[in-house]
Amino acid sequence: MKNKNGYFGEFGGCYVPEALETVLKEVESNFFKYIEDPDFLEELAYYQKQFIGRENPLYFAERLTEKVGGAKIYLKREDLNHTGAHKINNTVGQVLLAKRMGKKRIIAETGAGQHGVATATVCALFGMDCTIYMGEVDTKRQELNVFRMELLGAKVVPVTFGTKTLKDAVDAALIDFVENADDTFYLLGSAVGPHPYPIMVREFQSVIGSEARRQILEVENRLPDYLIAAVGGGSNAIGLFHPFVDDQEVKIIGVEPAGKGLDTTEHAASISLGSVGVLHGFKCYTLQDEDGEPLPVHSIAAGLDYPGVGPEHSYYHQSGRGEYVSITDKEALDAFFTLSKCEGIIPAIESSHAIAHAIKVAKELTKDKIIIVNLSGRGDKDVQQVKEMIS
Ligand SMILES: *Cc1c(COP(=O)(O)O)cnc(C)c1O
Repeated sequence: MKNKNGYFGEFGGCYVPEALETVLKEVESNFFKYIEDPDFLEELAYYQKQFIGRENPLYFAERLTEKVGGAKIYLKREDLNHTGAHKINNTVGQVLLAKRMGKKRIIAETGAGQHGVATATVCALFGMDCTIYMGEVDTKRQELNVFRMELLGAKVVPVTFGTKTLKDAVDAALIDFVENADDTFYLLGSAVGPHPYPIMVREFQSVIGSEARRQILEVENRLPDYLIAAVGGGSNAIGLFHPFVDDQEVKIIGVEPAGKGLDTTEHAASISLGSVGVLHGFKCYTLQDEDGEPLPVHSIAAGLDYPGVGPEHSYYHQSGRGEYVSITDKEALDAFFTLSKCEGIIPAIESSHAIAHAIKVAKELTKDKIIIVNLSGRGDKDVQQVKEMIS
């Protein structure tokens, strides 16, 4: 396995206090042990199939392809997973690890609530005690997701210090983790954070790219020319990209949220406009002020507004293996409507960023080229917000 030491070039690492480092070492050694244990992998495969509903299709978007008039566009249908997005791939993997480690209690942070719901879901599945930390501001903005988590048996703790948003929820979860590590596992939601989380989340999400690789070889008998995915923390993107990274002919494009535009302060384009720094215990491209504090971020997509990006993406940007671009709120919204009308698939507003860029790229290519877009989630959760925006 690559990057076992937690570094991707200069990025990644584990910049945390000693007490936390000790706890993370336990997670790390267990992860590396079980990820090569046939028994563990068999159990993971069972729940991927029977609970998540994998494998999901690699769908040829024929009408969209015709409309755009260029490269063939395939959609990796993560929206068809149980709970409607890719996040469940990671929570199933980590909860199985926690179980093997003998932990009884799971904690997690959540911003918009999607990772909280995916975590509460797997805790219900395995009868684990579940506590979700959520900024108080976010609990009010996302009342329905709070109720969903409670329905699933989780306790949602509103965080009332600092800015009362995601950043503070992460801090609260880390404090709990250090204090209760004996029986508690911290289930992190994206390919970010201190080692071993970025590599662990990548491995659990790589099922996306492994399936897509097999599927495209089956229908087209060759690898795709482009892979395109939306990048928040970067988990769905790295999950698609990683199994193709050594195939130099396959171009990799990550799409960041440009929000109201890169010439405004309302975006979350960490690679496009950020600088190198340490955020939440790891080194990456981050949007920071002069004191290294994370800047406020904005995106129409709640799942994309994070002021940093996973270390592996930071490295692919620096090394040139990946290209990182951005799409505005408005462009994402247009793609949301286009895919809905054209294919009968309402995409998550996060995934709509990837669709928007894929349309731009496909237009410039000949019809023999192939693009795979990660349709990271379904858009049911966004319908109300979009309705309010346009009325
Ligand atoms: C959370 C989320 C994202 C962004 O998270 P990554 O870790 O960057 O994948 C993208 N799409 C959907 C549907 C999400 O729920």
